[in-house]
Amino acid sequence: MNKLALPASEWRIAWQRTALILAASTVGSWVMSNLVMMSLNEGMNTVGTVLALGMPTALGGPILLFLQVRSAQLRDANRRLEKLASTDWLTDCLNRRAFTSRVSSSLGQTDGYGTLLVIDADHFKTVNDRFGHERGDEVLQLIAGAIRDSVRDGDLVGRIGGEEFGVFLKDAGHDIANAAAERIRAAVNALFVTSDGIAQRLSVSIGGAVCAGDSGFSELFQIADRRLYEAKHAGRNRVELGRNAGDADLAAMSAAIS
Ligand code: GH3
Ligand code: MG
Ligand code: MG
Repeated sequence: MNKLALPASEWRIAWQRTALILAASTVGSWVMSNLVMMSLNEGMNTVGTVLALGMPTALGGPILLFLQVRSAQLRDANRRLEKLASTDWLTDCLNRRAFTSRVSSSLGQTDGYGTLLVIDADHFKTVNDRFGHERGDEVLQLIAGAIRDSVRDGDLVGRIGGEEFGVFLKDAGHDIANAAAERIRAAVNALFVTSDGIAQRLSVSIGGAVCAGDSGFSELFQIADRRLYEAKHAGRNRVELGRNAGDADLAAMSAAIS
């Protein structure tokens, strides 16, 4: 990869910082030169002025630009590494660690509120058995795409296990979350995997937990996971979010679980 390949925004920052530092150095150089010449009871002549104004750019310009570009490359590499470390290689969703940590910090904010969904692909073993593991991987990518397309940009989508995904719907209470979960369920259920004349319709089961008071990630996850199992036992291809419970109701449930 071309080492100088930087996003346009980083080039802009590098040029701006270089220009700013050079402008400050030029002013400094001109003031200092004038002070020195005045202290020697000599005025600044034209050559002195040209040197005072031109030297900082001529000598420092290329080095400064080089250093700014290097630092922009480091910033860019750090950003890429951070993305790589937090992204699931197959589906491009957040990986489990990044998902858990981002949901936890979202819940930890003063007015942190939302709903956690745990989504599990139905009968996925059959997909692998019938179509092969590679096709199974492609299906996971399709499911991830359907989930992402069904939620808002700011919501968090992670792959938290083999064929299991997590979604944190920020600021969503029971009704909005239920609608989003239904959108996800329907979007996946509109997909088919086909090969050699065999077709299998895809589906997911979804369990959810609405944030109650100061519930943390693990409390919400336990509730959502239990509801996922209820959805599986009730026949799959379903959403189970509990009734529209008030905070006290869910808080009591979390206490009972822990
Ligand atoms: P259920 O409806 O009860 O969830 O049935 P299931 O078959 O989805 O559940 P089970 O836990 O029995 O099987 C999960 C399957 O998911 C088995 C495993 O091979 C497959 N799987 C897990 N991770 C991956 C992956 O990264 N790629 C592929 N292709 N398959 C995976
Ligand atoms: Mg599973
Ligand atoms: Mg499954």
